[in-house]
Amino acid sequence: MKKNIALLAALAMLLALLAGCAPSEPASTELGSSEHVVILVLDALSSAYLSELGSNSNLAKIAKDGAARLDAQCVYPSHTLTNHATIMTGVSAGAHGIVGNVRLQEGSLTTTIKSKEPEMLQSATIFEIAKAQGLKTAVVSGKKNLVTLFSKDCDVGVSNVHPLDYLGETPNLDNAEDNQDYFEMNLELADWVFESLYTVLEKEQPNITLVNVQSADYVGHRFGPNSDELKTAVERIDKALGKLYNKMKKSGMLENTTLIIVADHGMTESDQAINLNVLTMMNFPEAGAAIDGRTGYIWLNGTDKQAVIDFFSNVEGVAEIIERGSARAEELKVDAEGGPDLILNTEAGYVFLPPPMIDEYHGQHGSNDASDMTIPMIFVGAGIPAGAGIEMTDLRSLAPLVCQLLGISGGAFEISVPTLLPQQDLSDFKK
Ligand SMILES: [Zn+2]
Repeated sequence: MKKNIALLAALAMLLALLAGCAPSEPASTELGSSEHVVILVLDALSSAYLSELGSNSNLAKIAKDGAARLDAQCVYPSHTLTNHATIMTGVSAGAHGIVGNVRLQEGSLTTTIKSKEPEMLQSATIFEIAKAQGLKTAVVSGKKNLVTLFSKDCDVGVSNVHPLDYLGETPNLDNAEDNQDYFEMNLELADWVFESLYTVLEKEQPNITLVNVQSADYVGHRFGPNSDELKTAVERIDKALGKLYNKMKKSGMLENTTLIIVADHGMTESDQAINLNVLTMMNFPEAGAAIDGRTGYIWLNGTDKQAVIDFFSNVEGVAEIIERGSARAEELKVDAEGGPDLILNTEAGYVFLPPPMIDEYHGQHGSNDASDMTIPMIFVGAGIPAGAGIEMTDLRSLAPLVCQLLGISGGAFEISVPTLLPQQDLSDFKK
């Protein structure tokens, strides 16, 4: 009888293990140190995509090997250049000055320029802090604007447009002939970023490397967040990530390197356009407007503020208007020197775009809706305990984390290093 009970107990334990519900030991919550940190930004890889990848994905396995929070937040406005600037400075848009991807050219009411020039950054980056302490820095990116924005204090800057001679060839997306071609070139370029990253880490041994994998963003914009193309792009990223991770593990690189995996924002399906530029020009000729996905920016130039607010409050698809100097602007930390007087957010489904262009885009981001703001945050490798969770935080916490791991100091960060938790919640991979 005793034998049978022991057998049953063993069987029950085996079943529990197989079902994956064996109680796990609490993980350590101590952060250690590291010599090299790689910040791998999977552009626009929304937390909503994790359930498509599932618990057997490479990303899920890497999360188990390290610390994870699957519903972390980016900062507002939820755009690429804004959030990369936040990752690199540890401060919000209002403080670093990159409010969205675009701004009006000085002296113009209609010409917009990309916010990609290094002198536009109003806060010190972790590159500057690292360089001052004798460390080496690198950017490896599928988007050339990021190489430009962080070119100050960057030792090695790599994109498909600025490749290093020892890296392989890769397509230039500007040469895509049609949508199918653009899609395939994006997959190829993302693979190239992962392969180039490993080569750069091996050859250059930078202490801080910022990486951008562009494909989920570009494919999400063109085909939409719910498209088959997006699903394929995300699966392909997961495959390349798994390959990189295994190489880093096998070579021993992961023993002195920390890999930080995050997204810069999410993505929302859209199919209706609001013609912000034309509406502004026709109704408020003194004001200037710039469009940026689900956010629009207005500089009043003496135009009556209330009249502009009253007008756009009644435009279909406008969800919110944030006034410079208001409590809401302070809460979102979005008031920057030279920044817009008003920031408009669209309702889900709408974007600021000339209507004839709407068929070219099926996904956009930029608002403070959860679909645009919620992102995965995963740390693995040197200095990171396996199986840990991360207390709710946003991308501002990465700069202090990088500094702590590398043992360097400086920077005026807005929030502190992420707090690790003894348990992790990976259920977003299953939903
Ligand atoms: Zn982005």
